[in-house]
Amino acid sequence: MVLPVNNPTKSYWIEAAESPLRDFRSTVDLPKETDVVIVGSGYTGATTAYWLHKYTANNGSTPPHMLMLEARDICGGATGRNGGQLRPHAYSRYPAWSSRFGADGAHTLIKHEMAHLPAFRDLLSEEGITEEVCFKLGETFDAAMTEEAWTRLKTAYEDMKNDHGENGDVIRDCRLIEDPIAAEEFTQMKGCLGAVVHPAGQVWPYKLIHALLRIVLNAGNLNLQAHTPVMNVSERDASGWITVKTSRGDVRTKAVVHATNRWASHLLPDFDNLIFAGRGSLAAIKAPEGFIKHTGAQHWDSVVNNYHVQIPAPYNTIIVGGARQLLVHDPRSYLRNDSEDKQFDGVPEFYQSWPASDIVGWKGEDPAELGKRVSEGGCWTGITSSSIDAFPFVGAVPDHTGHFVAAGFSGHGMPRILLSAAHITPLILQFLKITFTPPALVAPYPLLPGPFHATAERIKKLQKLDATEVFEKTVKADLESARKSFCNDARSRPRSDQA
Ligand SMILES: Cc1cc2nc3c(=O)[nH]c(=O)nc-3n(C[C@H](O)[C@H](O)[C@H](O)COP(=O)(O)OP(=O)(O)OC[C@H]3O[C@@H](n4cnc5c(N)ncnc54)[C@H](O)[C@@H]3O)c2cc1C
Repeated sequence: MVLPVNNPTKSYWIEAAESPLRDFRSTVDLPKETDVVIVGSGYTGATTAYWLHKYTANNGSTPPHMLMLEARDICGGATGRNGGQLRPHAYSRYPAWSSRFGADGAHTLIKHEMAHLPAFRDLLSEEGITEEVCFKLGETFDAAMTEEAWTRLKTAYEDMKNDHGENGDVIRDCRLIEDPIAAEEFTQMKGCLGAVVHPAGQVWPYKLIHALLRIVLNAGNLNLQAHTPVMNVSERDASGWITVKTSRGDVRTKAVVHATNRWASHLLPDFDNLIFAGRGSLAAIKAPEGFIKHTGAQHWDSVVNNYHVQIPAPYNTIIVGGARQLLVHDPRSYLRNDSEDKQFDGVPEFYQSWPASDIVGWKGEDPAELGKRVSEGGCWTGITSSSIDAFPFVGAVPDHTGHFVAAGFSGHGMPRILLSAAHITPLILQFLKITFTPPALVAPYPLLPGPFHATAERIKKLQKLDATEVFEKTVKADLESARKSFCNDARSRPRSDQA
């Protein structure tokens, strides 16, 4: 049982956005009664509210009254602290997914992620917020920094090509750059041996969520409440009401959406053994305008990577995350770790050294200047929700009538959540007996792949797994990476060793 800490490190995305909705409360007091309480104001909560609005906007029925309760400031969780990459797993998970779900199952999962690119483009264009939320489509890369990484990336690509053919609809989107000189030129990553390239997007996630919430607030059926942690949610009583207990009083509601990510198990103990914390870190680095041509990631092995994106003018900062060469020496500092109120030792300096050591032709300072001081949002930590079977839990919560969930996106929510939220929306409206019409924006897309469904069978099976054993295995694998040479150069040794 754990709630979000109330003094997390400051994130550049939140501080630089200066949003008027940051501490917003629609009303001084909470309403006594509503149709739907959405717990959590991140990407999941906001897109669920948005779809509830869109599905009911044009069909003459009364839209549901929504109350969104957020423990922190609005969008103060993972969505306000992430990497900004809308980067589908276009091929890289193919071996793992095809061995679990077969070639067609893996294909369905990839198609779902890729569908988020046009779905984002069309939604943002329809709402006229593309520029406001700094959205761009383009190409991204996985850069192999070692032979080990190159073999792994190429094998994933080749496996997919072998199963689906040269012209398969997902493989057509991906390409290999095998010549190291061409790979270095494309990726701008020094010493890159080769790269796999595919379509992706980038966005300012916090601005996106605040824009969507503004749209739903303007439509008039959302009551939004910052700094209101939910302590407990009851089962549905005989009259059909669920009681939501908050630090500011109780609310009764007909339905509850748990959009609480890593913290889902606080209100739904069934998820105790299913969703865990993972602590990540990022920094914002000042850079010349348009310096980074493509979003991307560097890979040394399956554990050690960095990823980055550059925000457009007037901000221009590079957001870089990972720092695994350094962190991997102490896996317990990030695996199942909730210390979002603390920086990692030595990580701000690691990120400041990164542009000059890793980017071809870096024209900025060395060490690089942060976009803000460390304590003001220049470097921050954030909590990902790590699902025990690597897939999120989406749907009506089994055995808890009136409760719906979308959580456990495992550090990779951007190309998964928009359409997952569109999947639970009709379930909620059917439950409330409100008629609806799916908007044209979702019509072309597959909403939810099989492994995402929060079925009773899946939950029961996973509850029986030995989560400690899974954790210890991961710690062991990460410590194996820590022994490799790329984790033992001057910048990667733990600071305690350097004293
Ligand atoms: C460091 C980091 C980097 C990442 N980088 C990327 C990336 O580049 N690309 C990508 O695809 N994904 C990335 N992710 C993952 C992505 O950010 C998440 O999958 C996504 O933001 C999850 O959205 P969410 O709304 O489910 O969760 P959150 O944004 O965490 O929202 C949940 C909200 O619920 C609130 N809450 C929880 N419990 C309660 C309660 N009891 N009462 C009231 N409120 C409550 C929390 O305060 C929080 O605001 C990253 C995550 C992190 C932490």
